[in-house]
Amino acid sequence: MRMKLIAGLSLAVFGVTTANAQRPTLQPPDPNAPPTKYDYHETFGPNFYTKNGNEYRAATGEPGAKYWQNRADYQLDVKLDESKNEISGSVILSYTNNSPQKLDFVWMQLDQNLFKQDSRGTDIVPLQNGVPVSRNWGRGQAFDAGYKIKSVKMLTGAKDEKAVDVKYLISDTRMQVFLPAAVAPSGGKLKLKIEYSFISPDFGSDRMGVMDSKNGKIFTIAQWYPRMCVFDDVMGWNTLPYTGPGEFYLEYGTFNVNITAPAKIIVVCSGQLLNPTEVWTATQQKRWAQAATSDRTVIIRSAEEVNDPLSRPAGKTTLTWKYKIENARDVAWGASSSFIIDAAKMNMPSGKKGLAISAYPVESDGVGAWGRSTEYVKKSIEYNSAKWFEYPYPNATAVAGVVGGMEYPGIVFCNATSKGQRLWAVHDHEFGHTWFPMIVGSNERMYGWMDEGFNTFINGLSTANFNNGEYKPAAPVDFEATAKTNTRPDLEPILSQPANLKEPNTGTLLYSKPGAGLNLLRDQILGPERFDYAFKTYIKRWAFKHPTPDDFFRTIENAAGENLQWFWRGWFVNNWRLDVGVRDVKYVDNKPAKGAIITIDNLEKMAMPVVLEIKTKSGKTDRVKLPVEIWERAVSWQFIYPSTEEIESVTYNPDKQLPDYNGGNNIWKK
Ligand SMILES: [Zn+2]
Repeated sequence: MRMKLIAGLSLAVFGVTTANAQRPTLQPPDPNAPPTKYDYHETFGPNFYTKNGNEYRAATGEPGAKYWQNRADYQLDVKLDESKNEISGSVILSYTNNSPQKLDFVWMQLDQNLFKQDSRGTDIVPLQNGVPVSRNWGRGQAFDAGYKIKSVKMLTGAKDEKAVDVKYLISDTRMQVFLPAAVAPSGGKLKLKIEYSFISPDFGSDRMGVMDSKNGKIFTIAQWYPRMCVFDDVMGWNTLPYTGPGEFYLEYGTFNVNITAPAKIIVVCSGQLLNPTEVWTATQQKRWAQAATSDRTVIIRSAEEVNDPLSRPAGKTTLTWKYKIENARDVAWGASSSFIIDAAKMNMPSGKKGLAISAYPVESDGVGAWGRSTEYVKKSIEYNSAKWFEYPYPNATAVAGVVGGMEYPGIVFCNATSKGQRLWAVHDHEFGHTWFPMIVGSNERMYGWMDEGFNTFINGLSTANFNNGEYKPAAPVDFEATAKTNTRPDLEPILSQPANLKEPNTGTLLYSKPGAGLNLLRDQILGPERFDYAFKTYIKRWAFKHPTPDDFFRTIENAAGENLQWFWRGWFVNNWRLDVGVRDVKYVDNKPAKGAIITIDNLEKMAMPVVLEIKTKSGKTDRVKLPVEIWERAVSWQFIYPSTEEIESVTYNPDKQLPDYNGGNNIWKK
């Protein structure tokens, strides 16, 4: 009833023609307003969410009453052939189907197939000046790449005594395994044993590989066993191939890992070492015990000892390293005869202790470089554990190698040449991934920003905190400057698949822009207290589970108590820009003592709260904050500032903490 009356009124008063009458014009157009792209209905309109909450994923953004996810436990037994760079052995997968569907087949990921010369990932590397350039492949290394699958058997019987060959079909980086009998819904089990081998690429898409060092090759090994694809309530089977840009989406489980290598080689791996007395010397075991109670780094094997045969257990040609990790979505390892090893205790908020460990060659040693690695790992993990969610693994190992920086549960690979601030940054970033995606297991292949961007955000806080600000940036981030890059018109939206982004844009769209988005939410929109509570709620709700972007958006809105759909639309779903200009200042009755009428315009598609600095004739300055709601039904905004004297200048975004890309119209001067 009311709507009809107002619409009728506006038609009568302002004579709107039927052609543009779809939206009632309640105000005559402002003849002095500059042209604008801003459409408040597009920014603040309803129906942001395309689906309602349901029993699997609730409207609040938390897992619903019937949320389910499947489980994958792995028993891995492999050996490393150092001369051939070959890993061979077997995996026994124990899979639990908690879904409401029976499964006639399952899908597994064969990521090593990316490095074949005829893989999809190799085929899609673009040329730059006639040369293929990308970090997302094997750099064209011609070798006998990819998995060799020797057998796939289903194990049945009380003690897995029956093994039957099952049919499988490999297509690029995926393997479909056809089951003789379907896996039952709601808790049905499947056991598969796969015998396999592969030769490691030297440079495995910057996530694994082999590096030469003075005292032996350094293996940083990941994507090294057939892994289960995730079956979920969102997509069913997630079978996007591994083409390089998109990372991983994996089920949680327990991993038991046995790695056999020549006795001179030290193997470090995700999780807890189960047989230290077999693989470390008596002296080294004492040093490990010392490290477990020391906040300062303790050397387990020194640079001087690296080539000393006494630094390895005597009388063995090979050793088997036995590791176990629980609540993990993956497992990775490093191996080398060249490793210096050091460690220190980590202190968890619950009182639990852990070990920060570093493994690096003599070339990386020194206090300016990897000599501080363990200190960095310890401080980064202790900070994030206290701030967000306790680190869930017994150990945290940083391995120096060929990889620029890559994260796995309980272990990271960082470049052997990184030093100083750069080494802090890469350690803090890769171990920051413990929270995203190791604890909060989002789908990285679809939504890279949910791990890289969230991680970039927590890295900012952790870096500011480290060692009384040793590596804290000298000046705060200039959001006006970064908005020029973050909202460049040729960028894809953040809400894109990583494989759907031009590779040079990924630094902005997966890392810095979503990271800046969380900074804006925290510092400009919600305030730290409300944001931190909401973000912690998101982590707690989705720890060891599989959230989607909607689960994140809904959780932040629900836990902070704010409708933020206008922000998600502008910053995440679209690549909208922010440009607010200060148009003019007039006085009530032309008398400064009666108050100033200030007019600002929203010129681009995005909206944000407003901060203005007002300077008056006598030199006084004052701040005015306006909520984002001023833009809910206006493209220009006028308000009265209670001036007592003439205004000299009005400056929008005085601290440059709002992402306004065009500073040219931000200052009005008398
Ligand atoms: Zn990252």
